[in-house]
Amino acid sequence: MIRVGINGYGTIGKRVAAAVRAQPDMSVVGVAKTRPNHEAATAVDSGFDLYAAVEEREPRFAEAGIELAGDVEHLVAESDIVVDGCPSGVGAENAAMYREHDTPALLQGGEDADAVDASFVARANYDSVTGAELVRVVSCNSTGLSRLIAPLREEYGIEKVRATLVRRGGDPAQSGRGPINDILPDPVALPSHHGPDVNTIFPDLAIDTLGLKVPATLMHTHSINVTLASEADAEAVRERLAAESRLFLIPGWLDLDGAGDIKELAGDAGRPRADVWENCIWGESITVEGRDLYLFQAVHQEADVVPENVDAIRAVLGTASAAESIRTTNEAIGLEDSLERGQF
Ligand code: NAD
Repeated sequence: MIRVGINGYGTIGKRVAAAVRAQPDMSVVGVAKTRPNHEAATAVDSGFDLYAAVEEREPRFAEAGIELAGDVEHLVAESDIVVDGCPSGVGAENAAMYREHDTPALLQGGEDADAVDASFVARANYDSVTGAELVRVVSCNSTGLSRLIAPLREEYGIEKVRATLVRRGGDPAQSGRGPINDILPDPVALPSHHGPDVNTIFPDLAIDTLGLKVPATLMHTHSINVTLASEADAEAVRERLAAESRLFLIPGWLDLDGAGDIKELAGDAGRPRADVWENCIWGESITVEGRDLYLFQAVHQEADVVPENVDAIRAVLGTASAAESIRTTNEAIGLEDSLERGQF
């Protein structure tokens, strides 16, 4: 069994912890928290051992009636690999601790690419991170773009990607984020950071990205134009993308007109936290004009990187091939079953 530590148990950390625990070849050593809040309480209720991330705050856990298994250094020492789910910038600060303990670690998309040895998307560059000490699972948007780009490159070749990312203002629990009533070009100057970020996965890809932020919390929506290197027709593209386990082609009859409906379906289907791990591509939006492909996809920012983190664990430790890992991860969390039914 691969012993996995989770440092930072917030939006991403708690989802990765649950997904890791579901795997047949992994166990969760424990999770590190800075303070005894509601997430610490549910971690304990879920049976995870809790470790203190900040030594001086250890007494606060005892005051809240929460027993600690140790501090974060113990967690790192006891783990074969650590998934760092700390806020942007903190992961890079933690890197020295991971290196000191000779424990490989996965950082998240909020960290700079130069803080790590390699960036990761399972469908695109699984084999390239084996043996690396520090790996970054790229952001939700970069993951969503890379999953789409990988099969298109293989099948048709790509001359250029142009993507406009309509991004949610914040996650549902981020009450301090915005905009509340506006539509913001973000950043105003092109390109947004997403294109260069995707280039950490596909270094030679020509890609321009534009970003906007809107008053929404549920998902991001991407408007995509890919100039393919060879001729294609829309139906063939649909079939090619539908064959990818982490791309969900929304059939018209489901009548999913936006992120609200998609999340409603995920919840009704019993997905944990109504999580949507796949890119959701509106099948009817797939249009080809000459070599120009157009489509819309929605990406659940809290969830799409979760199976990627699980695969990155096996990729770094070299315990499974890409195909084996993706299949195991999907089956363990229930992604594969849902797709076999043709819906969530
Ligand atoms: P979050 O704020 O929801 O969770 C971070 C957790 O880490 C919190 O519980 C916080 O208390 C804890 N923490 C803070 N300092 C810590 C420390 N020193 N040691 C241990 N724990 C500490 O953040 P998040 O949204 O889960 O983001 C985590 C990372 O994942 C960031 O790099 C982010 O960019 C990336 N990411 C976030 C999303 C998203 O939509 N939320 C999507 C993809 C990637």
